[in-house]
Amino acid sequence: MDFSTSPHTDALRQRLLTFMDDAIYPNEAVYTKQVSATANRWESPPIMETLKSQARAAGLWNLFLPDSELGAGLSNVEYAPLCEILGRSDIAPEACNCAAPDTGNMEVFVRYGTDEHRERWLSPLLEGRIRSAYAMTEPAVASSDATNIEARIERDGDHYVVNAHKWWASGAGDTRCRVFILMGKTDPTAAKHKQQSMVVVPADAPGVTLVRPLTVFGYDHAPHGHFEVTFENVRIPATDVLLGEGRGFEIAQGRLGPGRIHHCMRLIGLAERALEAMCARAKSRVAFGGPLAQQGVVMEAIANSRIEIDQARLLTLNAAHMMDTVGNKFARAEIAMIKVVAPNMALNVIDRAIQLHGGAGVCDDFGLAAAWVHARYLRLADGPDEVHRRAVARIELKKGTAPS
Ligand SMILES: Cc1cc2nc3c(=O)[nH]c(=O)nc-3n(C[C@H](O)[C@H](O)[C@H](O)COP(=O)(O)OP(=O)(O)OC[C@H]3O[C@@H](n4cnc5c(N)ncnc54)[C@H](O)[C@@H]3O)c2cc1C
Repeated sequence: MDFSTSPHTDALRQRLLTFMDDAIYPNEAVYTKQVSATANRWESPPIMETLKSQARAAGLWNLFLPDSELGAGLSNVEYAPLCEILGRSDIAPEACNCAAPDTGNMEVFVRYGTDEHRERWLSPLLEGRIRSAYAMTEPAVASSDATNIEARIERDGDHYVVNAHKWWASGAGDTRCRVFILMGKTDPTAAKHKQQSMVVVPADAPGVTLVRPLTVFGYDHAPHGHFEVTFENVRIPATDVLLGEGRGFEIAQGRLGPGRIHHCMRLIGLAERALEAMCARAKSRVAFGGPLAQQGVVMEAIANSRIEIDQARLLTLNAAHMMDTVGNKFARAEIAMIKVVAPNMALNVIDRAIQLHGGAGVCDDFGLAAAWVHARYLRLADGPDEVHRRAVARIELKKGTAPS
């Protein structure tokens, strides 16, 4: 396996590190303060637009997009170290227009959108002028098995009519969110994986209602947020069914491949930052006659964190390499493995950092509580651990058995 980097990605990495030091870290507190001070929590704070302009001017824009005309044209292995750096801060991915769910949605428009979709939705998304949401999960059914989805998308002349009750649509409440990509059933009588389609629904279409924001362990994640949304008799033109009826699963596979691994890359960066905080605290905090760093158990916590982060990074790079060389379809096991490993690794590392900070670890002063919450929900948000383990086990069980 070749994980070596090119001079081009090395230069991007250096530029990104400088941008993090000069623009991102010093403005994290500014961002939080501005969100708290805004009358409408779902309005993006002004500092974000400043950061976006700076990132764009520095050529740190749309790094995630493999298309070299529309984005940076990087492979997954090339993007991994950059995405890891972005993951160190909550605000860095959006500043560089590399934030979920827009990244996945942009990839869908690039691959499956019509010319009109590209002009109306993809262009402003690529320019960071609007945001988007992805609506698949439903409160009424176990959505980790997407064949359960009950949303209906019914043909009516030149249109389709959408009726759906969704929740956990991340980013839906952001006042800049202009469009949903929604998964529902066009033909409940078709073969199990051909019943579903993905459609494009403008956020301001009549019949779309934001019911309520959901909190994650008490965090509302404003101005992004996660929303319960209803779609009542929403009419969309027939051309807004992506790729055609019954091809929703096909798109989901394409959409969630790179998106899944981006979360893993970012989690490694998040864990690295927690480990740095752990080491700084261990060196500066004195108890029982010396710095905490001199305690054997603390050294063990630090060593285990380093070991687990490096293991997860290698597994992530391996998945990225497989996706680049044999394609997402044949990298299914590797993607599923890292989806289990990365959030659990990050949770362990962040938990140790919290413990070492004592009471300071569970408040918002060091960002560790928010980081833990972030890693914890990622054990669900791209599909629960169990579903990924199931995928790995099924692939393993299909392999031939050794002669006894
Ligand atoms: C913060 C956050 C953001 C999210 N963002 C989005 C978004 O933007 N768009 C969107 O559509 N969805 C989003 N989701 C939803 C997420 O994708 C779903 O929560 C997830 O797919 C699980 O579906 P479910 O909640 O219906 O759980 P269920 O399907 O009801 O599963 C519940 C539990 O059952 C167990 N389970 C399920 N299958 C198996 C199995 N095969 N073997 C053993 N145990 C199993 C697991 O423990 C699982 O956690 C988000 C979720 C969160 C928490």
